[in-house]
Amino acid sequence: MFVNRDAVGAAPNMIFLNAAQVVTCAGPARARRGAEMRDAGILTNAAVAVSDGRVVEVAPRESLEPRYAHFTPVDCRGGVLMPGLVDSHTHAIFGRPRADEQEQRAAGLDYMEIARRGGGIHASVRDLRARTEEDLVALAVPRLQRLASHGTTTVEVKSGYGLTLEDELKTLHVIAKVASVVHLRLVPTFLGAHEIPLEARATADGRSNYIALLVHEMIPRVARQELARFADVFCEPGAYTVSESRRILGAARDAGLGLKLHADELRSSGGAELAAELGATSADHLGAITDDGIRALAGSDTVATLLPGTLLFLGKDRQAPARALLEQGAAVALATDFNPGTSPTPNFPLILTLAVSQLRMSAAEAILAATVNGAAALGMAADTGQIAPGARADLALFEIEDVRELPYWYGDHRCLGTWVDGRPAWSGGMS
Ligand SMILES: [Zn+2]
Repeated sequence: MFVNRDAVGAAPNMIFLNAAQVVTCAGPARARRGAEMRDAGILTNAAVAVSDGRVVEVAPRESLEPRYAHFTPVDCRGGVLMPGLVDSHTHAIFGRPRADEQEQRAAGLDYMEIARRGGGIHASVRDLRARTEEDLVALAVPRLQRLASHGTTTVEVKSGYGLTLEDELKTLHVIAKVASVVHLRLVPTFLGAHEIPLEARATADGRSNYIALLVHEMIPRVARQELARFADVFCEPGAYTVSESRRILGAARDAGLGLKLHADELRSSGGAELAAELGATSADHLGAITDDGIRALAGSDTVATLLPGTLLFLGKDRQAPARALLEQGAAVALATDFNPGTSPTPNFPLILTLAVSQLRMSAAEAILAATVNGAAALGMAADTGQIAPGARADLALFEIEDVRELPYWYGDHRCLGTWVDGRPAWSGGMS
């Protein structure tokens, strides 16, 4: 059962008991890298006290329980309690699903070819433009609840299927409306540079006019109205070039927005290097990142966000070089890329499976990449993504005895409950 925001009461004082493991991810309040990724902070026989939406104390049960006897007990039933998953890359506001394209790819058309024929992102753009805000809210709410049901407590949500001033603002208003309905932490990102709109591709100066619209009107307006925390660009051959991306993100930075970049997804074009150069908060995808790109990210504060579900769903036989990124010291995060074209899964634990089985990450690396490093990819690691005194009480409880079972039972649904700011958000059989 999902608890909507209007049904959320005051944050209760709670003590979480009977967890087989408490996976704290405790450590510095920033992205972890290198050797820090080896230890997810697994405690047995630990209890967690929560008050006023924050973690108060984590300690052995015998020591904690007597001191918090007046707190409401939460029975973890021998499961694994960990920080709620932080999904730092989604395109969750869209109209119809695009199941037709999955079949077209199976028949041999590739993603960029489908886009050239007016499918792909363009299909979702036509669809979203024809829908009302109310319609889009009604579609988005149950989709976000599905993400929550798998243990996710923070979701970044991008615009980018509007590609006009009016339709991009409409999408950002939908995100704000959804955030007022669902009890999830939503982080809005402006992605007006998701594609060159088809109507702009049709005329000689359409492309430069659209980029001028982004830089001079859309970005300043989005920032002024505080409709987004980040701006993002799809930097890829066939979409935006590196120099166009630099110009758009420069305008976003001037307007006070944080920066993200879809970089080197299918072909390398210097996106990762650009993200590092601009001090972007994250560079995402990186399926085709070069050695220079890996070095650039490793030497920067930009989080390398990997989206293995996307390449799996597209049927690609290559994944991002996670091991090289980790071994060279880049801060690696994982996310679902939940979207109608290339990654329609709300199941973040399945992404952990892909991280271990395809990206060859350890369970600890995958867990940290999906919690504190996901928070770092949203500029939120100061108080989100770990179970430690003072951190937000964003928690997820899974019906497993060892956290390594989270990636192991692949495709399964093991989440028993989540809490956002110390208030119940999703309850899958918890009373
Ligand atoms: Zn994306």
